[in-house]
Amino acid sequence: MIEKYTFNELFKRFEPIEVNCSYCGLSAMDNIDDCYFLPLYVKKDSTNLIVYRSVKFAKILIGIPRCIKCKKIHFDAKKKAAIISLSFAIALFAISLYNMITIGPVFTAIGVLLALIGGFYANEKLQERYVVEKDIYTWRDGAETNYIIRDLIISGWSFEPPTL
Ligand SMILES: [Zn+2]
Repeated sequence: MIEKYTFNELFKRFEPIEVNCSYCGLSAMDNIDDCYFLPLYVKKDSTNLIVYRSVKFAKILIGIPRCIKCKKIHFDAKKKAAIISLSFAIALFAISLYNMITIGPVFTAIGVLLALIGGFYANEKLQERYVVEKDIYTWRDGAETNYIIRDLIISGWSFEPPTL
Protein backbone atom coordinates (compact mmCIF):
# COMPACT_ATOMS: atom_id res chain seq x y z
CA MET A 1 0.00 0.00 0.00
CA ILE A 2 2.63 2.51 1.04
CA GLU A 3 4.80 2.10 -2.03
CA LYS A 4 1.81 2.73 -4.36
CA TYR A 5 0.95 5.89 -2.47
CA THR A 6 2.79 8.78 -0.93
CA PHE A 7 1.55 10.38 2.23
CA ASN A 8 0.86 14.10 2.02
CA GLU A 9 1.65 15.47 5.47
CA LEU A 10 -0.01 18.81 4.81
CA PHE A 11 -3.39 17.47 3.68
CA LYS A 12 -3.14 14.22 5.69
CA ARG A 13 -4.00 12.09 2.71
CA PHE A 14 -2.54 9.29 0.63
CA GLU A 15 -1.83 10.35 -2.92
CA PRO A 16 -1.54 7.75 -5.66
CA ILE A 17 1.61 7.32 -7.73
CA GLU A 18 -0.52 5.75 -10.45
CA VAL A 19 -1.87 8.35 -12.89
CA ASN A 20 -4.16 6.26 -15.09
CA CYS A 21 -7.76 7.35 -14.45
CA SER A 22 -9.71 4.73 -12.45
CA TYR A 23 -13.02 6.03 -13.80
CA CYS A 24 -12.66 5.97 -17.58
CA GLY A 25 -9.44 3.99 -17.87
CA LEU A 26 -8.49 6.13 -20.87
CA SER A 27 -6.91 9.36 -19.72
CA ALA A 28 -4.16 10.23 -17.33
CA MET A 29 -4.49 12.49 -14.34
CA ASP A 30 -2.55 15.77 -14.62
CA ASN A 31 -3.17 17.23 -11.23
CA ILE A 32 -3.23 15.38 -7.91
CA ASP A 33 -6.15 17.55 -6.78
CA ASP A 34 -8.32 15.98 -9.49
CA CYS A 35 -8.21 12.70 -7.57
CA TYR A 36 -11.33 11.56 -5.86
CA PHE A 37 -10.33 11.47 -2.19
CA LEU A 38 -12.22 8.66 -0.59
CA PRO A 39 -12.53 8.50 3.18
CA LEU A 40 -12.06 4.99 4.53
CA TYR A 41 -12.68 4.01 8.11
CA VAL A 42 -11.32 1.15 10.11
CA LYS A 43 -14.00 -1.00 11.66
CA LYS A 44 -14.30 -0.97 15.40
CA ASP A 45 -11.91 -3.40 17.12
CA SER A 46 -10.00 -3.96 13.95
CA THR A 47 -6.31 -4.41 14.33
CA ASN A 48 -5.65 -3.55 10.72
CA LEU A 49 -4.82 0.07 11.34
CA ILE A 50 -2.53 1.66 8.84
CA VAL A 51 0.67 2.66 10.52
CA TYR A 52 2.65 5.31 8.79
CA ARG A 53 5.68 6.83 10.49
CA SER A 54 4.40 5.47 13.80
CA VAL A 55 1.08 7.30 13.45
CA LYS A 56 -1.93 5.01 13.55
CA PHE A 57 -4.89 5.84 11.37
CA ALA A 58 -8.50 4.95 12.05
CA LYS A 59 -9.65 7.10 9.14
CA ILE A 60 -7.72 7.78 5.99
CA LEU A 61 -8.26 9.80 2.88
CA ILE A 62 -7.07 7.88 -0.08
CA GLY A 63 -6.82 9.33 -3.58
CA ILE A 64 -8.31 7.47 -6.52
CA PRO A 65 -6.61 8.67 -9.72
CA ARG A 66 -9.09 10.62 -11.82
CA CYS A 67 -8.68 12.66 -14.98
CA ILE A 68 -10.05 16.17 -15.35
CA LYS A 69 -12.85 14.98 -17.69
CA CYS A 70 -14.15 12.46 -15.18
CA LYS A 71 -13.86 15.00 -12.38
CA LYS A 72 -16.07 17.35 -14.38
CA ILE A 73 -18.62 14.59 -15.12
CA HIS A 74 -18.83 13.73 -11.40
CA PHE A 75 -19.18 17.38 -10.47
CA ASP A 76 -21.84 18.14 -13.10
CA ALA A 77 -23.83 15.02 -12.21
CA LYS A 78 -23.81 16.03 -8.56
CA LYS A 79 -25.01 19.53 -9.36
CA LYS A 80 -27.70 18.42 -11.80
CA ALA A 81 -29.01 15.70 -9.47
CA ALA A 82 -29.07 18.08 -6.50
CA ILE A 83 -31.10 20.71 -8.38
CA ILE A 84 -33.68 18.22 -9.66
CA SER A 85 -34.11 16.24 -6.43
CA LEU A 86 -34.25 19.39 -4.32
CA SER A 87 -36.94 20.91 -6.55
CA PHE A 88 -38.91 17.68 -6.32
CA ALA A 89 -38.59 17.59 -2.53
CA ILE A 90 -39.55 21.25 -2.11
CA ALA A 91 -42.56 20.86 -4.42
CA LEU A 92 -43.85 17.78 -2.59
CA PHE A 93 -43.19 19.44 0.75
CA ALA A 94 -45.08 22.57 -0.29
CA ILE A 95 -48.02 20.60 -1.75
CA SER A 96 -48.32 18.55 1.46
CA LEU A 97 -48.30 21.62 3.69
CA TYR A 98 -50.57 23.64 1.43
CA ASN A 99 -53.21 20.91 1.45
CA MET A 100 -52.89 20.11 5.14
CA ILE A 101 -56.51 21.10 5.86
CA THR A 102 -57.94 18.93 3.08
CA ILE A 103 -55.73 15.87 3.41
CA GLY A 104 -55.36 15.88 7.19
CA PRO A 105 -52.27 15.64 9.43
CA VAL A 106 -51.45 11.99 8.67
CA PHE A 107 -51.18 12.48 4.92
CA THR A 108 -49.34 15.75 5.46
CA ALA A 109 -46.78 13.92 7.58
CA ILE A 110 -46.50 11.15 4.96
CA GLY A 111 -46.04 13.77 2.25
CA VAL A 112 -43.29 15.54 4.17
CA LEU A 113 -41.57 12.24 4.90
CA LEU A 114 -41.81 11.22 1.25
CA ALA A 115 -40.35 14.57 0.25
CA LEU A 116 -37.33 13.98 2.49
CA ILE A 117 -36.70 10.32 1.68
CA GLY A 118 -37.66 10.70 -1.99
CA GLY A 119 -35.43 13.74 -2.37
CA PHE A 120 -32.48 11.94 -0.85
CA TYR A 121 -33.05 8.77 -2.87
CA ALA A 122 -33.63 10.66 -6.11
CA ASN A 123 -30.41 12.58 -5.54
CA GLU A 124 -28.38 9.37 -5.20
CA LYS A 125 -30.02 7.62 -8.14
CA LEU A 126 -29.91 10.61 -10.49
CA GLN A 127 -26.26 11.23 -9.74
CA GLU A 128 -25.50 7.62 -10.54
CA ARG A 129 -27.52 7.77 -13.75
CA TYR A 130 -25.88 10.93 -15.05
CA VAL A 131 -22.43 9.46 -14.42
CA VAL A 132 -23.19 6.08 -15.97
CA GLU A 133 -24.72 7.83 -19.02
CA LYS A 134 -21.27 9.23 -19.73
CA ASP A 135 -19.77 5.74 -19.73
CA ILE A 136 -17.55 6.17 -16.73
CA TYR A 137 -17.64 4.66 -13.24
CA THR A 138 -19.45 6.36 -10.38
CA TRP A 139 -17.10 7.52 -7.62
CA ARG A 140 -17.95 4.43 -5.62
CA ASP A 141 -17.63 1.87 -8.43
CA GLY A 142 -14.34 3.40 -9.50
CA ALA A 143 -13.10 3.09 -5.94
CA GLU A 144 -14.33 -0.48 -5.63
CA THR A 145 -12.54 -1.55 -8.78
CA ASN A 146 -9.29 -0.04 -7.52
CA TYR A 147 -7.27 -3.01 -6.28
CA ILE A 148 -5.70 -1.14 -3.38
CA ILE A 149 -9.10 -0.07 -2.08
CA ARG A 150 -10.35 -3.63 -2.56
CA ASP A 151 -7.48 -4.97 -0.47
CA LEU A 152 -8.19 -2.42 2.25
CA ILE A 153 -11.89 -3.37 2.32
CA ILE A 154 -10.99 -7.04 2.57
CA SER A 155 -8.59 -6.33 5.46
CA GLY A 156 -11.31 -4.62 7.50
CA TRP A 157 -11.63 -1.06 6.21
CA SER A 158 -15.04 0.33 5.41
CA PHE A 159 -16.73 3.07 3.37
CA GLU A 160 -18.97 3.89 6.30
CA PRO A 161 -17.82 5.35 9.60
CA PRO A 162 -18.07 2.84 12.47
CA THR A 163 -21.24 3.12 14.51
CA LEU A 164 -20.76 3.74 18.18
ZN1 LIG B 1 -11.14 9.60 -16.55
